[in-house]
Amino acid sequence: MHIDKTKEPLDGVKCVVNTCHYHVMGDQCSASKIEIQPRNASSTEETDCGTFRPNDDGMK
Ligand code: SF4
Repeated sequence: MHIDKTKEPLDGVKCVVNTCHYHVMGDQCSASKIEIQPRNASSTEETDCGTFRPNDDGMK
């Protein structure tokens, strides 16, 4: 699924995953929407961002 990268970072979301395609300055996420997984998780460690994409273009 392709998610657009927007100019307006998601309000209220702090993400420090600086290896993600959508990560922008100030530890913000520029994806138009994000999905967190999995259902029925039982700990913080178990949850993660399903929208993560490796920053493969080498540029920010
Ligand atoms: S898509 Fe997920 S991992 Fe990537 S910057 Fe946004 S919140 Fe972080």
